[in-house]
Amino acid sequence: MNITRAGSVPSTPGSPDYFTGTVRLDAAFKTTLPARLTGVTVTFEPGARTAWHTHPLGQTIIVTAGCGRAQREGGPVVEIRPGDIVWFWPGEKHWHGASPTTAMTHIAIAEALDGKVVDWLEQVSDTDYSARVSD
Ligand code: MN
Repeated sequence: MNITRAGSVPSTPGSPDYFTGTVRLDAAFKTTLPARLTGVTVTFEPGARTAWHTHPLGQTIIVTAGCGRAQREGGPVVEIRPGDIVWFWPGEKHWHGASPTTAMTHIAIAEALDGKVVDWLEQVSDTDYSARVSD
């Protein structure tokens, strides 16, 4: 058994290479092989979002605070709220982030394939981010 104590993992800023706006990563964790589960709590300030990206084995996000948005390639921008659990299929191109006016926090969980959990792509344009939100 291993306990990662609260406060033992420093917060880190989201890299501008992979995020637009102000993003904070907390409580990152990583299991050891043969387990391959990883996770992190991500807080997006209003207007902040990930770049487009894919996960080789998919990703689950659990929204814990605020109000956010997510979109898969070819689909509408959808609103996500605390309690929502979103699954992105392996290889499905998508992004997730805050709403324009409200911050959003989610726990992101993904399995690593050959040590990799994400493949980053281009940033989400303001036009794409500001598209009308669907339910
Ligand atoms: Mn993702």
